[in-house]
Amino acid sequence: MNVSHYSDNTSSAIKSFDWKDEQWDLRTINPNFDDRDRGIHLANFANIHLVWFKVEVKKYVKHLCKTGRSLSTIQQDLSTLRRFSRYLVRENISSFDEINRSLILDYLVQGQKVNKLKLSGLRKLFTIGTTKGWFDIDQDIIRDADYPKQYQYNPDPISDQVREQIEQNLHLLPDSIARMWLIGYFSAMRPSELALLKRDCLVREGQHWKLIWHRKKTNDHHEIPISRTIAKVVQDQQEYIQNLWSDEWDYLFCHYHNLSKTDVSQPQLEPVMKVLPIHANHPLSVGIRTLITILDIRDENGLLAKFQSKLLRSTRLTELFAQGHDLAVVSAWAGHKQFATTATHYTEVSCNLMEKEAGHIQKALVNSNGHRILYESFPKSFWETPISHKLELTQTHVNTPIYGYCGLPLNQDCHKSRACYTCECFVATIEKLPQYINTLNELRAKLIKAMSAGQEVLVEQFGRQAEQLDKIIASLQQGAA
Ligand code: SF4
Repeated sequence: MNVSHYSDNTSSAIKSFDWKDEQWDLRTINPNFDDRDRGIHLANFANIHLVWFKVEVKKYVKHLCKTGRSLSTIQQDLSTLRRFSRYLVRENISSFDEINRSLILDYLVQGQKVNKLKLSGLRKLFTIGTTKGWFDIDQDIIRDADYPKQYQYNPDPISDQVREQIEQNLHLLPDSIARMWLIGYFSAMRPSELALLKRDCLVREGQHWKLIWHRKKTNDHHEIPISRTIAKVVQDQQEYIQNLWSDEWDYLFCHYHNLSKTDVSQPQLEPVMKVLPIHANHPLSVGIRTLITILDIRDENGLLAKFQSKLLRSTRLTELFAQGHDLAVVSAWAGHKQFATTATHYTEVSCNLMEKEAGHIQKALVNSNGHRILYESFPKSFWETPISHKLELTQTHVNTPIYGYCGLPLNQDCHKSRACYTCECFVATIEKLPQYINTLNELRAKLIKAMSAGQEVLVEQFGRQAEQLDKIIASLQQGAA
């Protein structure tokens, strides 16, 4: 049996809690500890030299533990507070009464060393400490505007071309690493969830199988239906772990030593009783990257493909969406509480899908006033089945041919006698530009004729239609330029 030196940390006795200690074992007070927190469970206060500040930081850390905050968050906040304590020493600050907005502004502009992204730890300390009566700090001391703008980027899913090449060659990897891909990809689990996936995650209900796991991020249990094939992959992995360590290891996967970056078959692979790591040296990442390098797997731009284990989730969710599953289904699969989360972060709509869904009407749309409009602003049926909204009235319309789309929901009737070019529901499309120009010329000719014949109603009708068509044509030509 191979037991890594990390395992010793787990089996070592948890150090009992003493408020006066310079180092706390957070496992004594944090109920949310798990194996992935190993190595970050010790909170060090020794290098906070201001005693009055250290006391409050300790209270704050204890509060975070009691409220179940993750150890990584606590360590990040602690690091922020240590940095701030050094600044307080440099500025000869001797109590909370001397901490004010002006001091914070100086702190923020003192140089690149202050990472504004980590301001939140300081702000939380001030808020919680004041709320709990530990000290009294003006809550305006750190403002939203002090934080640099953060942009949320959509993840870049693995392209189909790259994914297919990887999957065709998964058999070159050791089975246990290939199984990480298969289960992680199918389930769209977060890497942290895959690492803590328990061996008893597979449940059979009659002919159906499902995978159940605990999610730390949302502190709930999530389940998805799985195919018989994936169930077999899980069973194979259960057997693999059973053969390695019998019942001594609770998790479905484990970490490895001696990972090779040059040999896909990983000849020296040595399983260790340790959960999969968070970032570097993740066996799946090393295995897939080695596969990419050895087989020279390139993306559509000819660049060597890149891989991180976290990409499996976004790739899978994007694939589900691209396969035509409703956003509600993809959202349920992902376990998101809000559809918007799925839509914003995981459903990169591919160009192919856009073409399939929107077809030819996606290019440029304007309304009867020539204003640009987005097809997403129309009923879903408009881009799902554009044909049902299409207007192509050439022969049947007595006065003016109509080309374009009607944006009215399909369950509503038109009460405007098809006076489309003057209707706010009308949608013109760039494809019909030549027809609009012809129609405008015809309308102008008809207008002159009606004027000379003194047909005022027709003059009014043709005049208004020509005016709107003029705007539509100008807008479409501008967009095409
Ligand atoms: S007049 Fe308006 S509502 Fe009626 S068919 Fe034309 S665009 Fe649609």
